[in-house]
Amino acid sequence: MRVAILSQDGSFYSTRRLMEAGLERGHEVQVLDFLRCAVMLHARSPQLWHKGQRCPRFDAAIPRIGPGKAIYGTAVARQLEIMGVPILNSAAAIACARDKLHCYQQLAGQGLPIPATGFTYACKDVETVLSGMNSKSVVMKLLKGSHGIGVVLAETLPTARALFEAFRGVEADVLVQECIDEARGVDLRCFVIGDRVAAAIQRKGPPGEFRANLHRGATAHPVVLTAQEEKIAVAAAQAIGLQVAGVDLLRTQRGALVIEVNASPGLEGIEKATQIDLADRTIAFLENWVVDRIVT
Ligand code: ADP
Repeated sequence: MRVAILSQDGSFYSTRRLMEAGLERGHEVQVLDFLRCAVMLHARSPQLWHKGQRCPRFDAAIPRIGPGKAIYGTAVARQLEIMGVPILNSAAAIACARDKLHCYQQLAGQGLPIPATGFTYACKDVETVLSGMNSKSVVMKLLKGSHGIGVVLAETLPTARALFEAFRGVEADVLVQECIDEARGVDLRCFVIGDRVAAAIQRKGPPGEFRANLHRGATAHPVVLTAQEEKIAVAAAQAIGLQVAGVDLLRTQRGALVIEVNASPGLEGIEKATQIDLADRTIAFLENWVVDRIVT
């Protein structure tokens, strides 16, 4: 197959691993920097150009859209879709995953377990949101944050009110969420491919840090999921419409809760911790998925 990987840089670990796996499995692989793509819209022949050259017809594509550039990344992904290219994670699913509120609404709509979460525009209405939390401390999250940036802990309700006012004062859209005290500093990252969790790790933040992001200095260890956790992780990816996803869970006294679904999950931390070749598994899945789409 001729496979396009949409990525800002071919030297990124995940992009490089997917490229290597694709080549090893006998495919032609081209990395397209989506910030150097041009989409040309003509009714009968939509085109994609990369660095001034018209792109050939691809058999499949894998978007790796980092935070901050989702508009351009999803525009290129959508262009490939309208050109009939099977794309492993659709533009709509990526856009949904990038918006934390939309993502939680999809999860809640499918009956999946999430922490109590609220959203409102006006400072006057923050009391309504705070009164719906099951915890004394709350977590506030910028709608489009990632790697733990824009996720802050308010230990008391007065701090929560003040923080909300500060965020709204600069017109930042922010979610309010119950803080899961028993999970502070620890979460699970489940790497979902199709209808399976291909690998899972437990991440632990450094002392005093409630966020367990690897980008914030957390450490990772392989973890065995319960059948229920695996089921929740797969269902969460499917609720957002993702074939490949990084689903983050918190282990709580009331079972696993989904806190995040990532459409371009990084391979480095989880491959190194588990020694599982997720790049190869992703390409193997892509091969079957493309064939299934041709047959059906
Ligand atoms: P990001 O997309 O920026 O990684 P997350 O929602 O995944 O944002 O939050 C970052 C980290 O903060 C999580 O990995 C988790 O360790 C911690 N965290 C997030 N939400 C909660 C919560 N409701 N209760 C306790 N810890 C949380």
